Amino acid sequence: MKEIRQFDVVILGGGLAGIYTALNIDSTLHVGLFVKDELNLGSSNMAQGGIAAEVKFDPEKIEEHYEDTLRAGGYHNNTEATKILVEEAGKNIENLINIGVEFDKTSDGKLVTTLEGGHRSRRILHAGGDDTGNHVMTDLRKALDKRENIEVFENEMGIELLHNNNKALGVIVINKNNEEVYVLANKIVLATGGIGGIYKRTTNEKFACGDGIAMAYRSGVKCSDMEYVQFHPTGFYEEDKIGKTFLISEAVRGEGAILRNINGERFMQKYDKERMELAPRDVVSQSINREMFDTWSDHVYLDITHKSKDYLTKRFPTIYNFLLNHGIDMSKDYIPVAPLEHFMCGGVTTDTLGHTSMENLYAVGECACTGVHGANRLASNSLLECIVFGKRVAEEINKLAPTFKKIDVILPDLVFTHELFNFRSIREDIRDTMNKYVFIVRKQEGLEEAYKIINKYVEDLGKINVFSRYYYETLNMAQCALLIIKAALDNKKSLGCHFRLD
Ligand SMILES: Cc1cc2nc3c(=O)[nH]c(=O)nc-3n(C[C@H](O)[C@H](O)[C@H](O)COP(=O)(O)OP(=O)(O)OC[C@H]3O[C@@H](n4cnc5c(N)ncnc54)[C@H](O)[C@@H]3O)c2cc1C
Repeated sequence: MKEIRQFDVVILGGGLAGIYTALNIDSTLHVGLFVKDELNLGSSNMAQGGIAAEVKFDPEKIEEHYEDTLRAGGYHNNTEATKILVEEAGKNIENLINIGVEFDKTSDGKLVTTLEGGHRSRRILHAGGDDTGNHVMTDLRKALDKRENIEVFENEMGIELLHNNNKALGVIVINKNNEEVYVLANKIVLATGGIGGIYKRTTNEKFACGDGIAMAYRSGVKCSDMEYVQFHPTGFYEEDKIGKTFLISEAVRGEGAILRNINGERFMQKYDKERMELAPRDVVSQSINREMFDTWSDHVYLDITHKSKDYLTKRFPTIYNFLLNHGIDMSKDYIPVAPLEHFMCGGVTTDTLGHTSMENLYAVGECACTGVHGANRLASNSLLECIVFGKRVAEEINKLAPTFKKIDVILPDLVFTHELFNFRSIREDIRDTMNKYVFIVRKQEGLEEAYKIINKYVEDLGKINVFSRYYYETLNMAQCALLIIKAALDNKKSLGCHFRLD
């Protein structure tokens, strides 16, 4: 007997995009929220710097935020979506505060703001100093607990979309006991986050395998801008460390930190005289990459030793303590850093209401490509995208609720192999290949070589149908990697985070 569950709305993903969308859906609708791990894991929980928003609704400042976003994105951005992003920022911050989120405030109760790369004004709100994601998500989970219409399923992973005639009908899920469950709904929202797990070093969780993007792509849904993978300039560097890596937030540069090469020399003046360390991430990552090449080194340093210990422990408590546990006192020592995978600017193509190219299927957050990031995301615009477009998706669903009915579907007879392979060597090879050929600097021959390697994995994995989380994660990794490689091969023009040496 196949297990079937029916909902009005199904959301895959419990990061900021998934939870905020769920909380804005009408409480009369039955929502199933599925996360493949525990609810407190994922990028949203780890965000440090904050959320960019002009909360005083000053039209000139909103226009400046818009211009900064386009400038960072190499003017490849969708201008309509970007306008919406900056204009609806303030009201969504108010909404977060009403839901119960507490941002950092001055002693007289005003919201504190900071600066990050690419922003011309201090407009980044934060919580708990450099622990924004954890604070925001903890407050939102408390609100989620009170909502009886939202059922949360942890450790249950969506593996395939159920659809007919380009109409989404539900999702096949692997439940906690490794059994298949058919989850049917009127509206399905993908909020599955990023793709960091396909690179050797990333700020993301290892399980960020691009599941939603790959699942949608397998079902014929349009994806775009996949070549624009953002590499953060300042991941904490430890020799031979691979996998999830601690991030040294951009806000540290926002508060005056400078970059030095391994000889202790400041170098950003060679690459961006005007903006220096506060140039957008693509520029800083590419500059560090060049500097590492020229000095035969695999890292550089971040120096904020001009700030006092007292200031740093208050402003960056998480980073300060992490570094201290690694033998570094950031008020006295340089911090070793190197660029690493951080964010997917592309993803499942959506319009400004989150609709994808498949009827009844929506995408929001990092897995979506609304076009607001263009070729390179402006710092702290990602959490903002989650809330602005999460709210829009929820409002669209609320509006369409009167049309909802029970889903009747003939379930596919899928035949799975129930073997427990772990596909480890394939995953390792995907990560090695992406780091070697599809990293900050890309060349035609390298991309062609990567294509050959990854395409073979996609073909081989496509011949089998193993019913396990490991199989689907590996398949999704390979398919997302291939989408990135194909897009990078097709796009000969260097722009934003896509840098072609040839
Ligand atoms: C260390 C770090 C610091 C950052 N700092 C900032 C910052 O200061 N400001 C900013 O704007 N951005 C920041 N970012 C980026 C930002 O945090 C993310 O882009 C954003 O949180 C993405 O939110 P999301 O809800 O789309 O995805 P996530 O928060 O990653 O959540 C994804 C969810 O999907 C679930 N999921 C995945 N696949 C499946 C599946 N197949 N089935 C069911 N569930 C699934 C996961 O379990 C998880 O719950 C940072 C990112 C990192 C990693």
